[in-house]
Formats: sequence, structure tokens, C-alpha cells
Amino acid sequence: MNQDPSDTRPQSPITPVKLELDDHFQFACHSGIACFNKCCQSIDIQLTPYDILRLKTRLRLSAREFLFRHTVPFEMDGHGVPGLKLRTADESTRCQFLTEQGCGVYEDRPTACRYYALGLMSMRKKDSPTDEDAYFVVKEEHCLGHHEPQTQTVRAYRESQGVDVYDDMNREWRQVVLKKRSCGPTIGKPSDRSLQLFFLASYDLDGFRDFISTPSFDEVYAIAAQEREQLMQDDVALMRFAFRFLKQSLFGETTIPERPGALEKRLARRKERTAAASGEAG
Ligand code: SF4
Ligand code: SF4
Repeated sequence: MNQDPSDTRPQSPITPVKLELDDHFQFACHSGIACFNKCCQSIDIQLTPYDILRLKTRLRLSAREFLFRHTVPFEMDGHGVPGLKLRTADESTRCQFLTEQGCGVYEDRPTACRYYALGLMSMRKKDSPTDEDAYFVVKEEHCLGHHEPQTQTVRAYRESQGVDVYDDMNREWRQVVLKKRSCGPTIGKPSDRSLQLFFLASYDLDGFRDFISTPSFDEVYAIAAQEREQLMQDDVALMRFAFRFLKQSLFGETTIPERPGALEKRLARRKERTAAASGEAG
């Protein structure tokens, strides 16, 4: 496609052709290619909860330590919903995990790195219970992989990059994000409390484990001893539980049993405390 020379707007690298799972596209990446590692020199990578779980486990860090060392915060939408991006190496745009030999965390690289050079767009039509995924080829000038002769289906590429496991792990979280985004203006700006809970349950898994170990959590939610034991030891089970908790606390989709009357009692106590505090202040 020829570009109008008078049009100086930046051109998007996304090829405007929607691909389905069994559509083919031409691309190959390998260590012998002249542009090897170029894509990791200038990064803008949003992290998902499962990305963080895998990387913090690989690096033997607590979630909080990982967030502190390797991420930078950003707002995912106009309502302050917190997101995290992978931090770049000091005073540069390159990835911290890049080595001479390539990716230093290859087996645990984030979802966005696995997808490249495909882009994913998830949409949910109004009143539809399911998301629809569409794929696009992202063609950046520095990436020579598009000139390699190899073609494959989107499905085969996803499999070769291990994308399926990551998508499966993050599916419920993406649903929460999409739902929050789609009903944003109708319910107004989320409360600080709900944004804090979103951060805790999405990114700070160890902090979330501490949170569900508190007497006040136990006062409201009735978790069987065996499940509690599993949540204390198994990060993946805890992450999936965290997504259920988010759906329940943000959208009222109840899957975690609540003790009868517990929420009401807690709200009444909170009211009393607020009234007492304003009495003291007056
Ligand atoms: S995590 Fe690995 S693949 Fe992803 S940008 Fe960093 S070095 Fe590249
Ligand atoms: S072919 Fe593209 S994805 Fe592969 S190393 Fe080169 S720039 Fe990166």
C-alpha cells in the first residue's frame, strides 16, 4: 500500500487484516536472523498476573520484591485501574532480561513476548457472555522475520510459543478487566478500596495470601480447611482464587461462600467506627 506523501501521521505497525485461528501468516524468528534481539531493545510490555507469577518464581523473589525491582505502574484506563509494565534496563529502553544469547528468562517470558509478531484483541459484545478474540500481524520495520519464507497458522504459532497456557491462566482476569472497562462510565470511578483490592489480587500474590489469612477475611468468607491449605501452598490455585474473589467483590458474582450476615455485621461496625471518629473530630 502506497502512503500519501503529504500524510505525515505516524503509521501503525498493525496490519489491518483480522486473522482467525486457522488463517496463515508469514513469519519466522530464529537466532541466526540479522535482527536477532532487536525487538527486545525497545520494549513496552504490559504484564499479566500469570506473567508475574512465572517470573517471580523463576527469579526466586516474593511478588512484592519482583514488583519493586522489575515493574513500573501505569493506569490501564481513565478510571485509575492499575496496570504494570516490565521495567527497562537503567536509562535505556531495552529489556532488563536481555542477554547476548537472547532472552534470559525465555521459558518464563511474558505473554506479550510470546505473542509477538501477532497482536491479540479481545472484545465482548454487549450482552454476550463470551469474549471474541481476533489476531493481527504486527509488522515493525526492524523485524526481518516477516521476510522469512515460513508460513504457519495462528493456532500453530500460538502452540509453538506456549501461548495457550498463559491465555488459559489469565482468562478470568482478562474478563474482569474487560468488564470493568465496559461498565466503567456507568458505575463511575471505582473506589480507592476496590482499586487496592484489584492491585492486590492481580499482582501481589504473597500480599493476597496474607490478606486471606486475616481473621477479618475469615469472618466473612467460609473456606474449607482443605482449600485453605492448598491456597497457602499453591500459587496457581491462589491466583485462580484471587480472580474469583475479584469477580465476587467487584461484580457480585458469588463463587466463594460467605458466612450469613457477616458482611452486614462488618459494615455496621465500620459505620459505628466512622460515626465515632466524626464525633471525636467534632
Ligand atoms: S522478556 Fe525476553 S523476550 Fe521479552 S522483551 Fe525481555 S528479553 Fe525480550
Ligand atoms: S525476527 Fe523480529 S521477533 Fe525475531 S528477533 Fe528479529 S526483530 Fe525480534
